[in-house]
Amino acid sequence: MDVYSLFPSAGGEAEKRKFFLEQIEKLLCNIDARKDPELAILDGPIERNYSKLIDESKVPEKGQDLETLHQYLDQFAAGNPYSTKYLMFNADCLPSIPSLLGMLTAALLNSNAIWDISSPAAAEAEVRTIAMMADIIGYNPRLASGYFTYGGQGGIFSGLRIGIEKAAPGSRVNGIPNNLYCFTSKLAHFSLYKAVETGIGTEKVISISTNKDNSMNLNELKERMCEVIENGGKIALVLATAGTTDAFGIDDVRGIKKIIDDLVQTYKLDYVPHLHADGAMGGLYIFFTKYDFDKNPLQFNFRTLQALRKITERISGIKEADSISIDFHKLGQTPYNNSLFMVKDSRDLNLVNLKLDLCPYIGEKGYGDYFTGYTFECSRMASAIAAFANLITFGIEGFQKILGNYVNLTVKLREQLKTKCPLIKIVNHKNYGPISLLRIYNNEVEAVNELKNRAKKEEIIKINKLNEEFYSLLRENRRRMMFGDTKKCALLTAHDTKEQIPINGTKAFIISPYTTIEDIDEITTYLKNTYQQLMATKNQKYITVDSVG
Ligand SMILES: *Cc1c(COP(=O)(O)O)cnc(C)c1O
Repeated sequence: MDVYSLFPSAGGEAEKRKFFLEQIEKLLCNIDARKDPELAILDGPIERNYSKLIDESKVPEKGQDLETLHQYLDQFAAGNPYSTKYLMFNADCLPSIPSLLGMLTAALLNSNAIWDISSPAAAEAEVRTIAMMADIIGYNPRLASGYFTYGGQGGIFSGLRIGIEKAAPGSRVNGIPNNLYCFTSKLAHFSLYKAVETGIGTEKVISISTNKDNSMNLNELKERMCEVIENGGKIALVLATAGTTDAFGIDDVRGIKKIIDDLVQTYKLDYVPHLHADGAMGGLYIFFTKYDFDKNPLQFNFRTLQALRKITERISGIKEADSISIDFHKLGQTPYNNSLFMVKDSRDLNLVNLKLDLCPYIGEKGYGDYFTGYTFECSRMASAIAAFANLITFGIEGFQKILGNYVNLTVKLREQLKTKCPLIKIVNHKNYGPISLLRIYNNEVEAVNELKNRAKKEEIIKINKLNEEFYSLLRENRRRMMFGDTKKCALLTAHDTKEQIPINGTKAFIISPYTTIEDIDEITTYLKNTYQQLMATKNQKYITVDSVG
């Protein structure tokens, strides 16, 4: 293999293009050959023997031909989950064709989003996308700013960096003082815990209990914030979650902002604690703030419309936050990594901007107009291009269709389970979204006992075990249908000890554009059969639908 033959053309020659297209076609053919719309996983072995892989992997002395590479790539694809109608595992979406073209553009131009001199494409796409999203969110596009970063986790970290400088100016230079605290809910994503590791410390994260709808308890938040302030602490970050990872609970961001403003007044604080809305999971439902719920042009049925109204009412509050993050690689149908971070006031980015004399190689004054010295990354992926591609080709309506349909399917799934298999309960029945958390019970008495908060710690733990068995069984058969599972789908207060105990559940995350309302029947029957199978193996009498009434 001539190593010089392995590059795209320099002059746009048709011959080279044809060669490249043939390679792409081969790649697509190989992946397609492994697809089966009735299964959730591509054909081939799922398990990998990593020790064996380590032992047999060596850089070859001489380069291998592309055929060998295709064999490897095909082997990589084997056994991967794939977003058919039966993939309900997690927030892994099916990247759209436009978004793949966007990614490919970034790759073909080898775009580095750090500086417009290095990639005008990345800069243009980012500026345009940020402006579009500012408008959708309800930020002033002229005042707001933002960038794409390495994940929802990166978004939280970005918010925290700004918050630290607000609460303790000069921390970047002098180090972080030891009286900084962060607030978040007990159901927030673990990202914040990673973000505080290098400075603030996880001990300084105060996690607030959640309400029945899985949102943060604001009374407790206020109390704990007062406590910290009165004891001389400073608040670096209040992290609200707009769509928790498992239960899709949406915090009342408006309410949180009001508490912050009140406390600033009451205690005459000389800074305003930074409020970040983590919309990694749910943020894109912001598109429904543009939906005409009275005319209902997409003709959602009554229940779905009600659910969407509720989501929208809550999610629209994120515009009160000082910064927001939204993952396009979750519900936005783009490939990884594609995470938007936005600030309401672009001046906030100055708080974390590099001093230009620290980076003589790039972004020098007078050379280039767009240099993102305020990001945590140095070189940065031009993922804005992929997000932009979806925004342009889906439009507001396209996003509403796709995201509304996930809710529609969720509503249907819950209704069907209720009649078909009433001992599979929906843990997060108070919130809607694309996720249903399923928790099974041996019998109705046990279920009611727990749902009414009368279960003792020991009983909750026993039901946790039962659910572990349930999703183990689902896991074994995941090639057919793939569900997720979680050990903390919600917190339940034990009747005896009054502790909030994390509960196990199965996650049905409807996120494939290929799941239709007709498929819900098959899905719920499958769940019911799995439940019955488990009960049969446990040698317990299955309480039928009839006997429950
Ligand atoms: C997934 C998720 C994150 C982390 O996002 P990554 O893109 O995986 O880094 C943060 N917050 C919430 C609520 C999430 O669901």
